[in-house]
Amino acid sequence: MTLVLGVTGGIASGKSTADAFFRQKQIPIIDSDLIAHDILNPGKIGYKQVVQQFGPTILNADGTINRRKLGQLVFGDAEQLAILNQITHPLIFQTIQTKITQNRQTGAAIVIVDAPVLFESGGQKYCDQTLLIAIPKALQVKRLMQRDQLSKQAALERINSQMPLAQKAKLADYVITNTGTIEELTAKLAQLLLKLRGDKNGMS
Ligand code: ADP
Repeated sequence: MTLVLGVTGGIASGKSTADAFFRQKQIPIIDSDLIAHDILNPGKIGYKQVVQQFGPTILNADGTINRRKLGQLVFGDAEQLAILNQITHPLIFQTIQTKITQNRQTGAAIVIVDAPVLFESGGQKYCDQTLLIAIPKALQVKRLMQRDQLSKQAALERINSQMPLAQKAKLADYVITNTGTIEELTAKLAQLLLKLRGDKNGMS
């Protein structure tokens, strides 16, 4: 039995840092951001539908989707964003499910689904358990400003456009707070992994 662990968080809360730990432990990671990016490449399943919906103005000269333009169209426009999500989310879920099945077939004990909008998209229904990487807002702003070279205002805009972490915490099975060092985060993740493996062994 493969345990599917959905990992979520806010922007710059530490998901990629957590992924690096899981990867080091040879745990397969299904990255929903990568999938979301890939399905909009020319010839891929979402490309045609998105171009049909939003028109040729979202295209670059070489026919690829200009993701910045598409983002500008939907950012701050709930209706347009909902339309884009209606096209992309089912395609992303299909791909995630295919990858979960592949990992089950190879006998993986645990597989991670990294999904920043896990709860917003209803993606938790594909997961057995969910983990939130949480962080207080002030530290989130600081780390985001540093990582992406953003002003405080720009960082706050990005953070405030997401579901509040306090709300996500209510929905998650496990919450790990990433306020300490990366080593401390890693130690907490290692402890969780032990627990998940123990629970699994107890079941079998
Ligand atoms: P996410 O993937 O959730 O957007 P990241 O894992 O990229 O977040 O973390 C955001 C930034 O904060 C990165 O620059 C990362 O190196 C840094 N970071 C993450 N965890 C810690 C930590 N515990 N201590 C210091 N810096 C951290």
